[in-house]
Amino acid sequence: MPHNQRILIVGGVAGGASCAARTRRLTESAEIIMFDRGPYVSFANCGLPYYVGDVIKKEEHLLVATPELFRDRFNIEVRLNSEVTLIDRHKRCIEVRDVSSGRTYSEQYDTLVLAPGAKPVRPPLPGIDLPGIFSLRTIPDSRQIRNWIDQHQAKHAVVVGGGYIGMEMTENLHKRGLDVTVVEKQSQVMPLIDAEMVAPVHETLTKNGVVLCLDDSIIAFANGKGHTLNLTLESGKRLEADLVILGIGVRPETALAEDAGLEIGASGGIVVDAAMRTSDPHILAVGDAVEVVDVVTGKKNVIPLAGPANRQGRIAAGVITGRQTAFRGTQGTAVVGIMDQVLAITGPSEKLLKRLGRWRAMEKVYLHPGHHANYYPGASPITLKLIFQKKDGLVVGAQAVGKAGVEKRIDIISMAIQKNATVFDLEEAELCYAPQFGSAKDPVNIAGMIAANVVRGDVALAHWEDVPATDAVVIDVRDPREYRGGHVPGADNLPLDEIRSRMEELPKEKEIWTYCFVGQRSYYAARALSQYGFNVKNISGGFKTNLLRKDTE
Ligand code: FAD
Repeated sequence: MPHNQRILIVGGVAGGASCAARTRRLTESAEIIMFDRGPYVSFANCGLPYYVGDVIKKEEHLLVATPELFRDRFNIEVRLNSEVTLIDRHKRCIEVRDVSSGRTYSEQYDTLVLAPGAKPVRPPLPGIDLPGIFSLRTIPDSRQIRNWIDQHQAKHAVVVGGGYIGMEMTENLHKRGLDVTVVEKQSQVMPLIDAEMVAPVHETLTKNGVVLCLDDSIIAFANGKGHTLNLTLESGKRLEADLVILGIGVRPETALAEDAGLEIGASGGIVVDAAMRTSDPHILAVGDAVEVVDVVTGKKNVIPLAGPANRQGRIAAGVITGRQTAFRGTQGTAVVGIMDQVLAITGPSEKLLKRLGRWRAMEKVYLHPGHHANYYPGASPITLKLIFQKKDGLVVGAQAVGKAGVEKRIDIISMAIQKNATVFDLEEAELCYAPQFGSAKDPVNIAGMIAANVVRGDVALAHWEDVPATDAVVIDVRDPREYRGGHVPGADNLPLDEIRSRMEELPKEKEIWTYCFVGQRSYYAARALSQYGFNVKNISGGFKTNLLRKDTE
């Protein structure tokens, strides 16, 4: 890297601040100036919903670093309330507007890093700009929401959009004692995740009094009585609210890059290579503003998450200072807490793979193990769905939902995906165990074992969605008491413990599909029957998986 390089960074939060600090750690000789149009640098956007919910009590706790810290510890100059309005690539300079005074000035750069993030989507609906309708992106946004709630003694909130931010806001508004209605265009909240995996979340929301308006959307806002708002939904339904939170997604902030003629991808993000370089070699870009490659699907997309933004900032710093570093791409690993449920995902969902026409090469397994040893008090079940390639068991994606231990399992599988691991690797993964933390066969091991059994051909799988169309004989292998408590229409009861003595009741010329509550006893039955010459499939995840499917149909 040439000495005395001048590095300017636009945006001073996740991507920008990581890039600035890492660049300084790698070189003492560069001049580094970071601009942010807002009044804060390096604040915790991910903490904002919890500040609204009063879980984080003080605004200053959201400040991860200050301009003074950047100056004293890293010799980095931070200019707040400073909006970068133009990039002149020819002269290699930017134009900056001091938001407080309106003064504009320009600054030269050797390298420019764009980390401007993303902006919340605000659809052009009638009344969208009325007071009381909020997006959440900055500390001032969260302060305004808190103030509005206090000032108007708000009781009813409508959250538009059931994605990550919508769900976190729902939880926090509920925590503050508000009645919350969620309006979501899709038939489920958390639409990136497969419907059956979201069923426990719907259940917990409803149990806590949250009203779900699914398959519906807002078409207009209007003033109601006093400070209140009247909302009209596409279905004709009307809602009244003290405040509305918009959580319908974000779009990359690309105006600066576009005006400067930098290449923008079809996904709407700034095009960068693995070294985070834009189409101009003197300009790098990181974070929510850029288009990234999904490592599993190979598709380019925008994936607005804090982890990738931080890692990209670090990689850009390496590149600027002459190191050979590259971003590996992302797989959308994410987690959200919704009341007593934790929901996490890594890699593509089943519905995404179907949309991409890639599902035929895939198989899935469901399991419902305890989050730690069941004999140790307090075990709670995790529902885990593992997606893998049929031909070789390559791990492709996973989703999990439960009250505890969810993110730990998804993190392990996320790393497995990054390293191109197979279900055989999950089967053999060595994971720490004591009864209060896990099981000697961890849920990740069990997922690997079930899937490895399938790839090796030790057991064939069937799925609930195929049951209505099959002419297979469906056998419920649970105890008669469990069977009487509820079973699938048309299923006969043949308890596992009687399977060897009563197998002559089963036809050899037809397929037999077995199920139990979670899929384990029916696997034992399938193994036994197949060794006696029956053509058997085990219905993955058992009756419990079917209940989850039914809940979201
Ligand atoms: P940002 O962190 O948004 O920073 C961009 C900065 O650039 C902003 O301060 C902006 O003011 C500034 N800027 C933009 N344009 C200009 C300009 N022209 N001149 C000067 N400054 C400019 N991700 C997770 O992984 N997990 C979570 O739990 C999570 N929760 C979230 C909760 C909320 C409420 C929000 C809003 C986001 C959450 N995210 C979460 C997403 C995560 O915060 C972002 O992915 C991450 O902050 C992106 O980093 P970034 O540096 O690209 O952009």
